[in-house]
Amino acid sequence: MNILLLGAGGREHAFARKISQSKHCSQLYITPGNPGTAQFGENLAISINDFNKLGSFCVEKKIEMLVVGPEDPLVNGVYDFFSSDEKLKHIVVVGPSKAGAQLEGSKAFAKAFMSRHNIPTASYREFNAENYAEGIEYLKSQTLPIVLKADGLAAGKGVVIAQSHEEALEEFEDMIQSAKFGKAGERVVVESFLTGVELSVFALTDGKQFVLLPEAKDYKRIGEGDTGPNTGGMGAISPVPFASAAFMDKVLERVVKPTIDGIDKEGLVYKGFVFFGLINVEGEPYVIEYNCRMGDPETEVVLPRLKSDLVEMFVAMSNGTLSNFHVEVDERKAATVVLVSGGYPGDFEKGKIITGLNEATFSDTIAFHAGVIEKDEVLYSNGGRVAAITSFGESISEAVSKSIEKITSIKFEKMAFRSDIGYEFKD
Ligand code: AMP
Repeated sequence: MNILLLGAGGREHAFARKISQSKHCSQLYITPGNPGTAQFGENLAISINDFNKLGSFCVEKKIEMLVVGPEDPLVNGVYDFFSSDEKLKHIVVVGPSKAGAQLEGSKAFAKAFMSRHNIPTASYREFNAENYAEGIEYLKSQTLPIVLKADGLAAGKGVVIAQSHEEALEEFEDMIQSAKFGKAGERVVVESFLTGVELSVFALTDGKQFVLLPEAKDYKRIGEGDTGPNTGGMGAISPVPFASAAFMDKVLERVVKPTIDGIDKEGLVYKGFVFFGLINVEGEPYVIEYNCRMGDPETEVVLPRLKSDLVEMFVAMSNGTLSNFHVEVDERKAATVVLVSGGYPGDFEKGKIITGLNEATFSDTIAFHAGVIEKDEVLYSNGGRVAAITSFGESISEAVSKSIEKITSIKFEKMAFRSDIGYEFKD
């Protein structure tokens, strides 16, 4: 079948590679894609939020499956647009409806959903301009640190962990009164701080049945030893050593099943990925957040470990046979190390010539392109996160070492990366 993939990051390079390996894939198109995705299909120049143009393209090229990488088009209703158009409704869209995508698009919706279905999460209250004064009193009464979350999508920047009451009150005012995050911050979720180690769990669901993909842990801080400001992600590992069978059983019974049952009971149309951002608090899983798509850079370790045919899995999702689908996983460990532009996540320069990215050092190392563009067969940096170098190993440290080895042959001005991905785990 002909498949269209939306997105342009390392995640989409990993999707393009995996989709192109499927026996069901005839022609793959990616919009807008990057030079990495172009190795597996044809890149287009259609905006991922221009549903009319996407629809016309799908009709013209007889597309049968639309795989949505990032959250934006989902929260904007790409599923609903396709399913309500006579010429497009036969296309399998991998991603939830606009209503389902609220699990990511609205933190307040997600918290209320968890509360309705008894899914463990931090205690919370939500505030807006109407109960602003009450919010101030509530913040003053909370123990530190206090977590404030802009309700809507804020390009990954909408969460503030305030270390003092002054900071919490200032952020609260900035979000609600000064529209720091625009409409996304008109409503604010204030929640208690949970202490523990985070991990990400992924399910593919049709809204009733589901399969689990390998779990992963990402490294968000810019600095070694998890220091400095948050980024989109500096690296990831899979599997996660502390995700024992006993812990994963709790995740399944207390988080995954109640979430899918909740989606079903509430009649949310949801055919796509659910990303569970979890925190392990003394052996108990709590949900920090839901996302309605795969994570980046987690996808760059999860999909390489998936041995099953991904498109076949999407077909099983669309025809109600997911429960019978056996997910086959590569037992080796995988790690990815993200190369970023110097200065990121603050100001950084783009347009630096990149060398060595496409030449693999080891057969079990994959260089995924993220913020990369190509002009006249030369690669240039074009974003904060430039590439993700994934390797396999018998241990996490071996996988990381292979990626670092590969990185020594990649060059661009002011390139930076964390050499300590997976530092807590020796095996
Ligand atoms: P989110 O965008 O909801 O994933 O939040 C971004 C990051 O903030 C998470 O990955 C956590 O590291 C942290 N965080 C969010 N909520 C909490 C919480 N209740 N307790 C501790 N850390 C949190």
